[in-house]
Amino acid sequence: MSEAETERRCPFCRIVAGTLPSEQVYSDETVVAFRDLNPQAPLHVLVIPRRHIRGINAPEAEDGALLAAIVRAANQIAREHSAAESGYRLVWNVGPDAGQSVFHLHLHVLGGRRLGWPPG
Ligand code: 5GP
Ligand code: ZN
Repeated sequence: MSEAETERRCPFCRIVAGTLPSEQVYSDETVVAFRDLNPQAPLHVLVIPRRHIRGINAPEAEDGALLAAIVRAANQIAREHSAAESGYRLVWNVGPDAGQSVFHLHLHVLGGRRLGWPPG
């Protein structure tokens, strides 16, 4: 499949392009953040790069500035949703054992309730 075709079919590329609706909570020139369709906590936001990158283990993800922009946005979102004090969790799911289902890099921001450990 061509790169253009992959991106046309990728739900998160479609969210970035605005052809798939989402409830956005943050965006800048590098990243977009929106509420998860199937939230697992009162605060459940996904932070993604505008650029299509398969996942955190893809070579293109080895970009310090990009990773910093994603984490910075996640921390800001937690602060803005009053989760900074009570606590929150940042999650990268990688591959089948972790249940990764969308192959466009995304950082989960979860908060607003007590989160169990170890995770399921
Ligand atoms: P993963 O399991 O790959 O780490 O997480 C993918 C997440 O994306 C899931 O939590 C799922 O609910 C969410 N998701 C999948 N498709 C869409 C969509 O079209 N819109 C939104 N807002 N979230 C989605
Ligand atoms: Zn994509």
